[in-house]
Amino acid sequence: MSKSATRKILHVDLDAFFCAVEEQREPSLAGKAFAVGGKADQRGVICSCSYPARRKGVRSAMPTGQALRLCPELILISTHFGEYSAKSSQVMEIFHQLSGLVEQVSVDEAFIDVTDLPEPVEQIARALQARVKLDTSLPCSIGAASNKLVAKIATDTGKNQSRTDGYPQAILCVPAGTERSFLSPLPVRAMWGVGPKMESILLGMGLRTIGDIANCSVDRLERRFGKSGVDLHQHALGIDNRPVTVSYEAKSISQEVTFARDTTDLLFLRRTLHELAIKVGYRMRCEGLCARVIRLKLRFADFTTHTRQVMLQAPTDQDSVIATEAETLLMKLWQPDRPVRLIGVGGANLVEHVHQLTLWESKTQKERKLLIALDELREKYGKEAVQRADHIRKRHKEE
Ligand SMILES: [Mg+2]
Repeated sequence: MSKSATRKILHVDLDAFFCAVEEQREPSLAGKAFAVGGKADQRGVICSCSYPARRKGVRSAMPTGQALRLCPELILISTHFGEYSAKSSQVMEIFHQLSGLVEQVSVDEAFIDVTDLPEPVEQIARALQARVKLDTSLPCSIGAASNKLVAKIATDTGKNQSRTDGYPQAILCVPAGTERSFLSPLPVRAMWGVGPKMESILLGMGLRTIGDIANCSVDRLERRFGKSGVDLHQHALGIDNRPVTVSYEAKSISQEVTFARDTTDLLFLRRTLHELAIKVGYRMRCEGLCARVIRLKLRFADFTTHTRQVMLQAPTDQDSVIATEAETLLMKLWQPDRPVRLIGVGGANLVEHVHQLTLWESKTQKERKLLIALDELREKYGKEAVQRADHIRKRHKEE
């Protein structure tokens, strides 16, 4: 592989994330066997368990009853998802400060492409781990490699090799060119994407290590697993060209307005909401994003603030869809006798707009083209100059 083609990918995984957050809430839990999860008498399961609990055999996704039999002194804590999600956003923000290419995999896991940074990858990883600890007090482990697959397996391997009593806080870097030899001795279940079912098939084929898969003929793997057999062989060789894809989950595009005078006028609120929806749609189209979730925010005169959101069937960047959904949400919150101080509309769970290749343009695609044409006119002649006739007609009717 040429030097210019070598990427620097980090995989970061917070160590026993929920437990680490609970330990911050209740420091006396430190060093104890405890777990976050549902109660045994309610058929609960373990969501996350401390490292002392893991040494007693407790694992996440295990029924709580079974966990308590393995470790009778286990302290059970109920979940506080609001806090986990707030902490998670804080951590992801640190990643975003390091690189524009962050792919969030789950609440406590992300890939970061740091190819553009000049420092050696190990140095970047150490600095990042220290930064996360300093800013959030959370321990994390990091794997680094020339691709996502090997980086992810490096994190898992680093954690498994850790011999500390507490959080592993492992860092394992796999130098470019050594991917295959790094993977080779690992058991097949260490391969990303190999679950218990595939593991038993591979073992049945006499393949015990990732090296065995690499040495197996592609044809044999393809006959057994189809196309994914070919991928499996590539992966066993340490080859993975998948890019780090930026996730926009954390991001949202919203517009809000605070009124000069509190209002109970529903027509005025609806009109404002349509204007905000147009601005939100415009910004989404500018950034090439579509929203899966539409949100409405309403603040009453007494400063109580309410938000409602709706998940859409298909992501949208269209003014009319945003406005319609927001209006439905408005009708759920609006009360005739409560003056409104602020109204806001937003799109969240953003995804990149993907052009659908279909033979015939659908109505929504036509609408989208029209909106883009309008956006161009707005840019040319100013935002107030262009309004769709139906929008103006509606406004007249309302007035
Ligand atoms: Mg984790």
